[in-house]
Amino acid sequence: MRGLVDRTLWNRAGTEGFLCPAISRDHGGKGKDRLFSIVVTEEIAKAGASGLGWGLHSDIVAPYIETYGSEALKRAYLPAMAAGTMVGAIAMTEPSAGSDLRGIVTSARRDGDDFVVNGSKIFVTNGWHCDLVILAVKTATEGAAKGISLLLVESATDGFSRGQLLKKSGMCALDTVELFFDEMRVPAGNLLGREGDGFSCLMQQLPWERLLAAVYTIAAAEAVLEAAIDWMKRQRANEFEGWQDGQSNRFRFAELATEVEVGRVFVDHCIALSLRHLLNAETASMAKLWATNLQFKTMTKCADMLGTAGRQGLSIDRFWADSGIYRLAGGSNEIMKELIGRSL
Ligand SMILES: Cc1cc2nc3c(=O)[nH]c(=O)nc-3n(C[C@H](O)[C@H](O)[C@H](O)COP(=O)(O)OP(=O)(O)OC[C@H]3O[C@@H](n4cnc5c(N)ncnc54)[C@H](O)[C@@H]3O)c2cc1C
Repeated sequence: MRGLVDRTLWNRAGTEGFLCPAISRDHGGKGKDRLFSIVVTEEIAKAGASGLGWGLHSDIVAPYIETYGSEALKRAYLPAMAAGTMVGAIAMTEPSAGSDLRGIVTSARRDGDDFVVNGSKIFVTNGWHCDLVILAVKTATEGAAKGISLLLVESATDGFSRGQLLKKSGMCALDTVELFFDEMRVPAGNLLGREGDGFSCLMQQLPWERLLAAVYTIAAAEAVLEAAIDWMKRQRANEFEGWQDGQSNRFRFAELATEVEVGRVFVDHCIALSLRHLLNAETASMAKLWATNLQFKTMTKCADMLGTAGRQGLSIDRFWADSGIYRLAGGSNEIMKELIGRSL
């Protein structure tokens, strides 16, 4: 297993107009609203194409640059990201700081017109292909959250290096790596937002990122449920037609279909709020918590019902392995409960 997709896919995605749809035309994007991003996300999820890090590149990294970067940074990088000639990543997590980012230790000290960065990051999506990384660094030691800043770094910079591709239980074709920084000099002009404002920038973008996780997972649940019902109807017609033999599976499908429908209505409600810039952090957390758990449950129950033949024929095993990842990535579901609980 290679653990990554071909880089040529990125160039093709740029040519076909799939990348950075919501970035303004002035900066090389398509100038669409976020609904376009949501449609692309849903189609990738339905196809189970979990090796494509396009969503993170287009809908997380590029918006950070457009929202918090200087005009010079936007013009230097966003058109290349939209064209697929530059791949973006965001590196926050460290071996000792995942759920609580206030614990990061990668540091950036000011030296003339540069920051000098030392440290490492782990589990960086697009980390193998990336040309550009948003790095969360500590620019001050006092005040855990206040000391965090965001720096935009080119991977070709001296002092930047990659580790091996990391093996994961799901999303196995998504390149995920460890990154290392050794006396790496980054121009001070590459700051995103103001020095010390990194944590607050991250918090402002999280509702949208969590909504994307909900959109991806509800679409994947819908796709697998539909495929599983279709397979069962074709291969084991009695499960649906005979009142006696098939009733157990029919009832399990009926329950799942009801829950997925309820999940879809809630996610659509959150999409509508987001398009009007009204989606708050706790509602986005609810959407991620609900949809990612429902996806996992749907995959598990469908896999149980289909047995080995159905699982292989429909790649359910791969969907199932992928479905655990979103319960952790992008903020674990325990953290979602913490955020929701605090708001009550
Ligand atoms: C496929 C994949 C892609 C990723 N891509 C990126 C990326 O591009 N960039 C990036 O920066 N990171 C990335 N990550 C990292 C991801 O964001 C972290 O895994 C996540 O934030 C959780 O951190 P952790 O793995 O260190 O787990 P930990 O924080 O160590 O948590 C371990 C367990 O403890 C629980 N826990 C932690 N704190 C609490 C608490 N306060 N209360 C209750 N329970 C708690 C968690 O829910 C979890 O179950 C990726 C991860 C995966 C799996």
